[in-house]
Amino acid sequence: MSGLPHDAPLAERAAAVNAGRVTATAGAKQAVGRIMTGETGPERLNAFISYNYEEATESAGAVDARIAGGASLPLAGVPVAVKDNICAIGMPTTCGSRMLADYRSPYDATVVRRLREAGAVVVGKTNLDEFGMGSSTENSAFGVTRNPHDITRVPGGSSGGSAAAVAGGLVPAALGSETGGSVRQPAAFCGIVGIKPSYGRVSRYGLVAYASSLDQVGVFGRTVADAALMLQLISGADPLDATTAQIAVPGLVAAARACAVPRVVGVPVEYFGDGLADDVRIACAAALDALRARGCEIREVTLPHTRYAVPAYYIIAPAEASANLARFDGVRYGLRAPNAASTGEVYEGTRSAGFGAEVKRRIMLGTYALSAGYHDEYYGTAQRVRTLIRRDFERVFADGVDVLFTPTTPTTAFRIGEKTEDPYAMYLSDIYTVTANLAALPAMSLPIGRSGALPIGGQLIAPRWHEAAMVSAGAALEAELAR
Ligand code: GLN
Repeated sequence: MSGLPHDAPLAERAAAVNAGRVTATAGAKQAVGRIMTGETGPERLNAFISYNYEEATESAGAVDARIAGGASLPLAGVPVAVKDNICAIGMPTTCGSRMLADYRSPYDATVVRRLREAGAVVVGKTNLDEFGMGSSTENSAFGVTRNPHDITRVPGGSSGGSAAAVAGGLVPAALGSETGGSVRQPAAFCGIVGIKPSYGRVSRYGLVAYASSLDQVGVFGRTVADAALMLQLISGADPLDATTAQIAVPGLVAAARACAVPRVVGVPVEYFGDGLADDVRIACAAALDALRARGCEIREVTLPHTRYAVPAYYIIAPAEASANLARFDGVRYGLRAPNAASTGEVYEGTRSAGFGAEVKRRIMLGTYALSAGYHDEYYGTAQRVRTLIRRDFERVFADGVDVLFTPTTPTTAFRIGEKTEDPYAMYLSDIYTVTANLAALPAMSLPIGRSGALPIGGQLIAPRWHEAAMVSAGAALEAELAR
């Protein structure tokens, strides 16, 4: 029985397994083999924190048994990687932190359960910035992940391991998570497709919380169709997550196939100002020309509160993180400081040893922003700014814009170490992505060109719940750029 090419579309892989032409077990063995080869030696990507041959072949065997029993599954035998802040039963869930280095999840996240039900095989857990805090996957207790297009550069973050694993051909698809751009930004840096759904579209049961008013699970694929299939299968209401909406799941696979071009594409001037690198600007202009060639009206629009997005995000996200991360106290999860003489010493010793510098910085920022006397001045103001940002988008969409097009990032992937000494410069790499999280909107990044070896990503942002229109536009743009 011959294997499938590792870059076969997900639907084709599943069809081959459903038809009995290849087994899920063979696919899982091939994927783990690629991971083992890709993750050894000095050139390794370090995309994975853990992977497990026995576990992967065992769960692939279960898929083969279901197929033998007559089942036909949309992701039959598709090997997937899962960001290591999403729980998968029996596997480590470290969140890239010393705090959880030895933690194993006792249950599956809803998104993982849904992928498994669809026939996918979880082959490993991927590297990330600790608890999702970062833009480069350099803030991990398990080392830096490298960009497969140039290993001296970062893959982006915080879902850099998942993005590098897909871009490096180690797995065909992966899950990530987003709080301020952690799927789209690494997708752009690694030259793949990444989608962040509307807030409330996908269950977060089993996703370790960073900033709960912003967090969503997102997907990575090599193509729009692959990412759309993944997203469709994990979407939908979940009784285990009250923030999921009781709204019908859109037909994203059909939307990708339809390749319907939007009537009006909005181009917000604020996303094309100072700080945007020339190579990215040029690729965006070419992408807009491609959309125009497909008959879209390209309309300049303004989102005037955009410049307050990064400051608002860096109040809201740390504030919520400081509350969410209070649970890592040495009592309930993971690490516990030895030889502590009092409860206070347990907390202090555990948190000092368990958290890395960026996580500590955010907890301090967030605690300060929520402290008595400053709460309204900081958190309250940031929330009011958030409302203004949301209204900017609502106005533009109400004026007849179907989707917005912007660069995903101001530059291509930066060098490892380049921004580690300057947190503010690091935070600015999210300048075009945090807005969609603040406004609860669906957004995606797709490859629109290259600058030398380095990929360039373009971003589409749609009204809330309009993933289908966004995916269709993405597929149309992808097809036009491939011509
Ligand atoms: N880079 C942003 C941060 O550091 C976003 C991270 C994310 O989306 N998880 O918070």
